[in-house]
Amino acid sequence: MRIGAIEAGGTKFVCGIGNEHGQISESISFPTERPEETMPRVIAYFKDRQPEAIGIGSFGPIDLHPGSPGYGSITTTPKPGWAHYPLLAELKRHFDVPYGWDTDVNAAACGEALWGAARGLGSCAYFTIGTGVGVGVYAGGRPVHGLVHPEGGHIPVRRHPEDGFPGACPYHGDCLEGMAAGPALEARWGVKGPQLPADHAAWTFEAYYVAQAVTAAVLMLSPEKVILGGGVMQQPQLYPLIRQEVQRSLNGYVDALDLTVGIDGYIVPPGLGGQAGLYGALALGLQALEASGQKV
Ligand code: ADP
Ligand code: ZN
Repeated sequence: MRIGAIEAGGTKFVCGIGNEHGQISESISFPTERPEETMPRVIAYFKDRQPEAIGIGSFGPIDLHPGSPGYGSITTTPKPGWAHYPLLAELKRHFDVPYGWDTDVNAAACGEALWGAARGLGSCAYFTIGTGVGVGVYAGGRPVHGLVHPEGGHIPVRRHPEDGFPGACPYHGDCLEGMAAGPALEARWGVKGPQLPADHAAWTFEAYYVAQAVTAAVLMLSPEKVILGGGVMQQPQLYPLIRQEVQRSLNGYVDALDLTVGIDGYIVPPGLGGQAGLYGALALGLQALEASGQKV
């Protein structure tokens, strides 16, 4: 079985071929330029490989409503050339196969639920803390959609009492992304995240904000696993700080062992590492093939 997987990121595109067992046999990656440059590369890659279905996890926001004229497009991104770009329609012109289409973070949540840290569980929340902050939600065996799709990166957060940074989100200023994404770290401290020492106050602030979002996810969604990925989470000291802060803010209110003695196994890095998005796209492709009635 040959399933195409596309992780359409704001920084890079990753395309790969995988199978129904969650094995990816090959992949390539290239920087995200304007669609006129990037999409021909995607199409050329799959032309040579003829997948039976294609799954796409895309940067967003995206249109996920099957009945909408804009279904399958990216909507309001500031990324040059991509606002309202009909990504799915462009692929359909070249490949007549079933398609799975979702946000990059919902895809990653699916990948983690099928083959990663949340394997065997019915629900998880996947956070990426990178250039932006995104939150994907998997529940009841599928990614969560509704009015649009979850946008947990932009929830309001309570300001750390010692943090004078105004916030970097162009829409909200000091929302979660505005306070905790990689560019906010850099703007606040004057150096990029990787250059900050492990014992720097930056990580106390970072954990304070990320923990608020995790607490909100626990209280609103009750996920069976919380997975924290993205470039900023490559700072391993953040995990214990975040777990501690989540326990402090929940203060014993939610009665679950996973939040007390089991917290080290509850708030975890992606089981699929940096490839959660690509595996997630594979999961979406497989689901699309199943939904089309073809035997998987
Ligand atoms: P993207 O969000 O663009 O897909 P990443 O998840 O790699 O990409 O996130 C990139 C952001 O993460 C940048 O702001 C970068 O400075 C930050 N970052 C990358 N590696 C680290 C690290 N080891 N420690 C802290 N911040 C990091
Ligand atoms: Zn915001």
